[in-house]
Amino acid sequence: MFEKLTIPNTLAAGPGPGNTDPRVLEQFSKAGLADHMHPDVLRGMKECKFMLREVWGTKNIHTFGVAGTGWSGLDAVISAVKPGDKVVAFVNGTFSGIDALSLRMKAATEEELMSNPLDPDAKSVKVVNVPHGQSVDRDIIEQYISHHKPKWAFMAHYETGSGRVNDIETFSDSCARHGALGLIDAVSSLGVGDFRIDDYPGVVAWASCPQKGISCLPLTYAPVSFSDKYIDVLKAGGARTFVHNPILEARHWGILEGADVDKGTYHRTHSAYAVAAFHEALRLTLQEGISNRAAKYVKFEKVLSGAFRAMGCDVTSDMTSLVVLNLPENLSGREMEFVQHCRSENFGIWPTLSEPVQVRVGILNLLTNEAISEIINKFGSALKELGGQFDDKLVALQIDKLSKKIAAE
Ligand SMILES: *Cc1c(COP(=O)(O)O)cnc(C)c1O
Repeated sequence: MFEKLTIPNTLAAGPGPGNTDPRVLEQFSKAGLADHMHPDVLRGMKECKFMLREVWGTKNIHTFGVAGTGWSGLDAVISAVKPGDKVVAFVNGTFSGIDALSLRMKAATEEELMSNPLDPDAKSVKVVNVPHGQSVDRDIIEQYISHHKPKWAFMAHYETGSGRVNDIETFSDSCARHGALGLIDAVSSLGVGDFRIDDYPGVVAWASCPQKGISCLPLTYAPVSFSDKYIDVLKAGGARTFVHNPILEARHWGILEGADVDKGTYHRTHSAYAVAAFHEALRLTLQEGISNRAAKYVKFEKVLSGAFRAMGCDVTSDMTSLVVLNLPENLSGREMEFVQHCRSENFGIWPTLSEPVQVRVGILNLLTNEAISEIINKFGSALKELGGQFDDKLVALQIDKLSKKIAAE
């Protein structure tokens, strides 16, 4: 017999998963066992649906959670993409790269899929590669969408692989202008950034995840939202999936024939534990407020990246929940070793998953002075242990200066 599994508590300072609030864990463990059609479970799902519309900033009826992780939500978002559909996909890191692979699998013809099942070269999909460390910007978006006039266009909002924020405003405008249906991977931005999806009418479908900005790791729900336009396309053309068909999935959340109904109907066996945890995570998000939370991310990211710069690191990201950096010159090339050293001490930072190897340090749900100081101290100690040279006093001075400047703003 194996021993009982013990998992340590780490300082989860990576791109995700983020810390789950004790209130969420308590709701998870305290929920009773009630089946997926119990009135309180159905009521909880309905309330989650209403809260999700606020969190996303939308009137979209088809707003709900897809059981699983971020990729589950994204799979629902691309469910209406058919073999041969013309797609433009912007890629500027690991995650949008996987999104583009998913789109190539969906849009590939039978022959294309069979000739390379795990990495099909779909002729109808134009993948636009933007170099690592750069954002997908106005010019490149407008250039490719206007030239190709695709049926679907895809982009990540926050690309967590390189820590870059992409321009969803231009993306939405270009989609609307050129008749493309916009799809956005908002896995890393929901609950972190201050945005309302109804301000981006060119985007017809959005997906996020439970474990990042929503801070609800106990494997729960990937928030998704679909405009009526998307649902019309799906209604007309169908999707080759039962479980991730947004029209069918929405039924359990009390959405039937494009309207809210009193009671959900069976789609799959939802977990009362997951519903209770997700419900609490959404309550927490709305109690704090999207804008307030986003402002905290902005503030703490400034302090963190300022401290790393004072230690001689070169920060190349512009996300507010994640800092991506190169180590000081004398440690250049030792990024992987540095990350492994930190991880062995339960300081859970990450390398980039694609070349070039950089260090990623995140602050998901670590929005306190104490937590940020702990990250800075652990990072600084590890840097010194590897031979980094910086003046502690200068770093402290820089942090103090930044904190004062932020407090005055
Ligand atoms: C984390 C992430 C994903 C994958 O989410 P999972 O929860 O691991 O399935 C996809 N896209 C982006 C931008 C991400 O940051």
